[in-house]
Amino acid sequence: METERTIRNLGIVAHVDAGKTTLTEDMLFLSGALRDAGSVDKGTSSSDGLEVEKRRGISVRASTRSFDWRGVQINLIDTPGHADFAAEVERSLRVLDCAVLVLSAVEGVQAQTESLWRALEGRGIPVIFFVNKIDRMGADHAGVIEAVEREFSAPVLPLSRVEREGEDGAAVQGVLADMDEELIERIAECDDELLGRYLEGEEVSLDQVQATLGRAVLERALFPLLCGAAKYQVGIGELLDAVVDYFPAAATDTEGPVSGVVFRLEHDARIGRMAGVRLYSGRLQNRASLVNYTAGREEKITQIKKETTTGTRDTGVLEAGDIGLLCGMPEARIGDILGDPGPVPDSYQLGEPLLAVQVVARDPGDTTALAQALQQLSSEDPHLDFQWFHDERELHVKIMGAIQTEILTEILRTRFELEAEFSEATVVYREAPLMPGVGADSYTMPKPCWGVVEFSLEPGERGSGVVYRSAVPTDRIARKYQNEIAAAVPEALKQGPKGWEATDVEITLVGGSDHVLHSRPGDFIMATHMALMKGLVNTETKLLEPMLALTVRAPDEFIGKVASDIIERRGLIEPATTTAGGVVLKGRVPLATGQDYAARLGSLTGGRGKLTAVFDGYQDCPVGEGVERGYKGISPLDRSKYILHMRGAITLSSR
Ligand code: GDP
Repeated sequence: METERTIRNLGIVAHVDAGKTTLTEDMLFLSGALRDAGSVDKGTSSSDGLEVEKRRGISVRASTRSFDWRGVQINLIDTPGHADFAAEVERSLRVLDCAVLVLSAVEGVQAQTESLWRALEGRGIPVIFFVNKIDRMGADHAGVIEAVEREFSAPVLPLSRVEREGEDGAAVQGVLADMDEELIERIAECDDELLGRYLEGEEVSLDQVQATLGRAVLERALFPLLCGAAKYQVGIGELLDAVVDYFPAAATDTEGPVSGVVFRLEHDARIGRMAGVRLYSGRLQNRASLVNYTAGREEKITQIKKETTTGTRDTGVLEAGDIGLLCGMPEARIGDILGDPGPVPDSYQLGEPLLAVQVVARDPGDTTALAQALQQLSSEDPHLDFQWFHDERELHVKIMGAIQTEILTEILRTRFELEAEFSEATVVYREAPLMPGVGADSYTMPKPCWGVVEFSLEPGERGSGVVYRSAVPTDRIARKYQNEIAAAVPEALKQGPKGWEATDVEITLVGGSDHVLHSRPGDFIMATHMALMKGLVNTETKLLEPMLALTVRAPDEFIGKVASDIIERRGLIEPATTTAGGVVLKGRVPLATGQDYAARLGSLTGGRGKLTAVFDGYQDCPVGEGVERGYKGISPLDRSKYILHMRGAITLSSR
């Protein structure tokens, strides 16, 4: 089945602390790619790059390492376990073909395990479970298997026998080679032909069983589960064998057209930006030219590298199925598709930043430099959505959670030599029209200029976003100006009258005109901004707030307390259901009141409650709740001042 060069693009995912970093080190060590197994506890692990990761013992940035196991190249795409870095996980998932989901034999299924499982499920990624820490007191791998089957409704296939569980000398034995009847039958059930032969008493070889299991894993019909203790390098070889035997090889069509995706960006002090790329088809060499399909421009690759355990190595080539770092694309962004978009999987939204913070330079003289640094970081990570309000001298970014500000502080210090502080995070609200309205503007003075537009605005359904269309023929407003308007609409909606992004609105261009002599590039941008702001005021926008869907699992006696606490936080709950693992309560709370819910639940239940919280869309914010922050910068409603200001800016940038 294996061709000449086979690759597994493998992700290791886990709730923080389950042992992912230790496991990664073990794999590198065992394969010979690393001389010493680094230790997370000593702060010497090789896959954690940032100081803060070493200090706090958490992995935040996804990193890639490659090694060989039994002649198969394994590209290990490490993913962060902390919920604050959901965006990084999402990017890594896009380029994985298979994943090992690590669970602790003591803690079992944890909050982040559930959302990771759901994300893997959403993408149809084959999974092998690894139950770690079988040496620890209280380890109960059988209980974890039950919990996985119950909570994920996944057909788990246990492949390890655990000995001396909960003791220092804990060990594992593979069970497949025993050809145990019940186990073989479960596997054979995935293949009618094999099942038939087996039931008729024909000899079935281990190879045949393994091949069938590989197909079942690929189809997510079976999920092998192995056990071990990463800290003591127990069960690691067996896990690597399973990865090689049961996970799919990446397609390696090097003859086809180039097709790849940028899934991460690295910054090198000397070389500058390096784009982490997964290639799905074709072959790239140093000095190759290719089309950045997303950005619509030609790129020239100067160097191709591969990450090693100690740094990077020049390889000069990148072939289909593999992952590498491309240099020479200073403008590359995460998510950029290179070449043919056909073979690249869609991106998958796991989470979005719902908190906003203000960044302040410790030395006010550094504000401009800080803004430039944030601009750069934001181009590497568009989720940051950096906004610079010149007049207020305020710098704002969006984040997923509090730990992210620590990471940013450190990146600013080490990469840009800037000392910055972050304000308390606030929830990111949005605003949406309450009723239909019209917004028009005639930007015809002071000459030379001509941009006349009229929009109708209708409230859209919750979650529908912005829908724009034009009902004006191109003989009234020429195509090039219509394009300008279409591009200006999302920009203009970035801030509504209450200072938040406007959404859930259907906008139609219903009238307007250009002028053969007077209309200039930029005039319609200006008119669109002024008209839409008036339109939004006319629709009387209201605030929307982000909601969290909560699932709480707790022993029966706590459920009453938890339920009334959720309601007190402006939440809604569904009737509780009883399962083998305790009572399950589902509900929905505003992020504004539910942000610290994990800690709250811990104290309400003496640590016995378990929480999953996922973003669940925006919902109308009751009057009196929420925060209006007011328009920042010069409002398009302040017409003459706005025109003067924008003319300066437009003159500088586009004329
Ligand atoms: P991550 O957050 O998932 O990357 O987890 P780490 O690899 O940083 O491990 C978290 C903690 O668990 C560290 O203190 C490890 O030493 C410890 N640990 C990891 N694997 C095992 C194991 O198999 N047994 C025991 N007893 N501890 C482990």
